[in-house]
Amino acid sequence: MNELDPKTQAMLLKIRKGATAAIDHNKLLKVVFPALSGWKLEMIDKNRATLKFSITAPNGKTQLFKRQPSSWSAGSGVPARDKTAMGDWETFRWMKDQGLVADVNAALGMEEHVPASRRSKDGTGTCPVCFRNIKLVERIHSAGLVMVNHGYTQGPNHGYHKGDDCAASRRFRPYELSSEGTEWAAEAMKGTVENLKDRVSTLKDLLAKGGTINVYDKRAPNQIRARKVEEYDVRAAEQDVKVAQDQLNFYIKMVADWKLRDLPKENEPFAAFVKD
Ligand SMILES: [Zn+2]
Repeated sequence: MNELDPKTQAMLLKIRKGATAAIDHNKLLKVVFPALSGWKLEMIDKNRATLKFSITAPNGKTQLFKRQPSSWSAGSGVPARDKTAMGDWETFRWMKDQGLVADVNAALGMEEHVPASRRSKDGTGTCPVCFRNIKLVERIHSAGLVMVNHGYTQGPNHGYHKGDDCAASRRFRPYELSSEGTEWAAEAMKGTVENLKDRVSTLKDLLAKGGTINVYDKRAPNQIRARKVEEYDVRAAEQDVKVAQDQLNFYIKMVADWKLRDLPKENEPFAAFVKD
C-alpha cells in the first residue's frame, strides 16, 4: 500500500473515528476523493458559487452535490435550498451510508474503529439539550454531575449552530437525573420560534411593499448589499419556523415525560429513550 501524505492520513483518521463535524466539499474534493478507490467523481459546474458535481459510490448509487445556503442563513436572503441536490454535511452523511468509513479503513489499512461510547457507557448521561450520550464530570462547588464540554453535531436544523458548544456543557445534569436542562432548552427555543415568526412577518411586509433586505455579497466576502425581498425569502423563513417549532415540541414532550431514571449502562440504550 502507498503511504498517504500526513494531511490525508489525518483527515482519514478523523473520518474513521467519526470526528468530522467540519468536513466540507473542499476537503472531500482535495483530500478524501483522491485517497479512495472505487468512488467516482464527475464535475458538472466548477464555478465556486454554483459548484456542482455528482458522486458515484462503489455500490453504484449516485448523488448530486450542489453548494447550498445553510437553512439558518436562508432567511437572511440567501436563495432557498435546492432539494434535488445535497449540501456539505448531507453529502458526507450520504457517503457514510454508502460505506465510506469501511473504504477509508481500507485506504488506511486499518480495522474498524470501536468508539469509546460503545466500549462503555460508565460515567455518561443523556444531554438534556442535544440528547446525545455525553461523559459526566463532577461540578466543582456543587454536588451535581454535569455534562462535559461538547459541541452540537446536528448542524443548524435544530436551531443551533454546528460547532458551537452545547448549552448544557458543564452546566446541566443529565436528562436521567433532572429535567432542568430540557426546561431551559424549551424556554430558549420558544424565544427562537417567536423571533423567527417575527422575521416572517417582517419579510411579508417588505415583500408587499417591494422593500429590501441586506445580504452578504457572495462575490465579496463580508460586504453587505441591499436587494429586493423575494417570495423565496418568506418561504425559507417559514421553513425555519417549522424546524424550530418541531424542536420546541420535542423539548415540551421530553419535559412532560420526565421522571428520574438510571444513568445509561453498557449495552443498553440511552435511559431517556427506554419505553416503560
Ligand atoms: Zn448537549
